[in-house]
Amino acid sequence: MSEAFIPFGDLSLTYMCHREIIDRALNQVLEKGWFVLGKTLEQFESSFAAYCGVKYGVGVGSGTEALHLALLACGIERGSEVITVANTCVPTVAAISFAGGVPVLVDIDPATYTMDASRIEERITERTSAIVPVHLYGQCADMDSIGQIAAKYDLRVVEDCAQAHGATYKGRMAGSMGDMGCYSFYPSKNLGAYGDAGMVICKDPAVANLVRSLRNYGQTRRYVHERKGFNSRLDEIQASILLAKLPHLKAYNRRRREIAHVYTEAFRELDWLIAPTEGEGRHHVFHLYVVRTVKRGPFQEYLQKHGIETLIHYPIPIHQQPAYVECLPQAKYLSVTDSQAPHLLSLPLYPEMTDSQVNHVIETVRAWNPMSRG
Ligand SMILES: *Cc1c(COP(=O)(O)O)cnc(C)c1O
Repeated sequence: MSEAFIPFGDLSLTYMCHREIIDRALNQVLEKGWFVLGKTLEQFESSFAAYCGVKYGVGVGSGTEALHLALLACGIERGSEVITVANTCVPTVAAISFAGGVPVLVDIDPATYTMDASRIEERITERTSAIVPVHLYGQCADMDSIGQIAAKYDLRVVEDCAQAHGATYKGRMAGSMGDMGCYSFYPSKNLGAYGDAGMVICKDPAVANLVRSLRNYGQTRRYVHERKGFNSRLDEIQASILLAKLPHLKAYNRRRREIAHVYTEAFRELDWLIAPTEGEGRHHVFHLYVVRTVKRGPFQEYLQKHGIETLIHYPIPIHQQPAYVECLPQAKYLSVTDSQAPHLLSLPLYPEMTDSQVNHVIETVRAWNPMSRG
């Protein structure tokens, strides 16, 4: 076994691979001298919306801001309850809080780690106004069931698609099923900028216009402010990078899926490790390859010792976070989340990984004896 270091990810590799088109895109923006809300963003907005199969895309400052502005645009008021999961990263609930909403957390399905739709109805009250399903790790939540419940109780659905660029559910793209879809283009996402960026996608032109105004100080026409807004824009430099990378997203995702399938096949006979499951009708894009083992601590240490970097997504569920103590009483609804959180581990998976790196991870994982100590 060679002892080469395999990092969890390496964003410089994508640049090396596409240096020419990225440099050209950047130079064009610099030479044009127009940096905020220009033609490059418009082009990226319409290209990405078309990729997702919807009409409108509104570029914003980050994925968190996409969720925040989308929730405001769908009429969340102070004290409105917004249903989401505790097995997500903090920005999902930070956005709900920003918008004045109260996060109501439901448990996850133990196979896909996404929202367990059968646990939603018990949490609906008079004050519930929206559901934020998170398409976690690269896989869509159970959108048919979520959509049915939303229709029954007249709730808005705002999809958190930050980890799901290119993921589909029964042939429909992430973000195209609810009222709005919210994307992050944080550098490490499946489609990443070289800084912060995000987008709200939707089908309704009035909603798109509302988000467009909210991201730009509440302006509707120049110097006319019909509402109190924010400054949350996707700049031309980032838009040009994203526009240059978008045509390659399919190939990145194809390679991610290929590596994931090789991993899963190789781990099949390991009775101490549970590989990720692709839910029925769902096309997983493996933003993360998350395995489960009750021996996480020693397993992670062993991998580290053999030069394989791993991460945990996420070590502390939302209701256990100091900033969200008010959510702690909801723990009684979150037994699957709480029992699985200590066992989840993300292995390295990125499009530029070589076959020999993939094999090194496989051999190292398979060589571990879970009965040994480290
Ligand atoms: C990355 C991420 C976000 C936040 O996106 P930013 O662009 O970092 O603000 C929100 N939700 C999920 C599930 C994410 O992975």
